[in-house]
Amino acid sequence: MTNKEKSAKVVSEIVDIFRCPICHRSMKVVDFKSLICSNNHTFDFAKQGYVNMLTRPSNQHYDKNLFEARQKIIMESNLYSSLHKKVSEIIGKHLDEFHYPTIIFDAGSGEGSHLQKIINECRDRAITGIGLDIAKEGIIMASKNYHNPIWLVGDLANIPLTDQSSHVVLNILSPANYMEFKRVLAPEGIIVKIVPRPNYLKELREVIFTNSDKKAYTNGETISLFKQNFQLVNNFRFSYFKELEQTELLNLIQMSPLAWNAEKEQIDSFLNLDSTGITVDLDILIGVKSTS
Ligand SMILES: [Zn+2]
Repeated sequence: MTNKEKSAKVVSEIVDIFRCPICHRSMKVVDFKSLICSNNHTFDFAKQGYVNMLTRPSNQHYDKNLFEARQKIIMESNLYSSLHKKVSEIIGKHLDEFHYPTIIFDAGSGEGSHLQKIINECRDRAITGIGLDIAKEGIIMASKNYHNPIWLVGDLANIPLTDQSSHVVLNILSPANYMEFKRVLAPEGIIVKIVPRPNYLKELREVIFTNSDKKAYTNGETISLFKQNFQLVNNFRFSYFKELEQTELLNLIQMSPLAWNAEKEQIDSFLNLDSTGITVDLDILIGVKSTS
């Protein structure tokens, strides 16, 4: 079976939760090669297995190098392994109440490594992961590297899933669309949002920001917006420190949007370090649908 057929088979098993991004009608898998709605809007499975469900072109400037660097930091340097373990524990605590199979929807999955690692940590669970990102390069890489989840190129403002379809919505260090997250979240489901705290990657920030733009970052507004949309049931501060080697520091720079506008000298001085400790400092927000 090719990747395309395998992926079409996985989608066909849960095709009820897909909706057409153009007319919002129900969809079916035809000939293990296309997702087609009842109005005949057609989205083909690519040979790597993903489906492009964007209805308009995207002008995102994320490129392949960024996603390759991100994948190495997540899968090889294991910078976020403690976070993945923690998130899987949180999901495990809530999972008993869920229907089979559990749908974990990663909104803004990028190249997919966070979702794959979290699913790996949720052992012995019947989980179907769905990763969605507007950046096609990221989704192509995800579908080449990770064959179990379903990978979709799509728009967070128009998620191609039905109402109340997702038991877990993940939103990891990535922008949100709360209207859509509320719509796709199952009544008993949880949203897990990861936001940076002021000390997140501070060693990198200290090198890259000049004194004039070194204003303190806070996540207060992000948390308050989250609370306007969901009932916050828990908020863990999750903080740790990890030593990275020189080659890993280069990957860290390449995956960090905050470094894109930095001067070459600033980046070189960071990369001249043989190794350095990197601070990961995050808030894990867990929300459920508000009852009001
Ligand atoms: Zn349609």
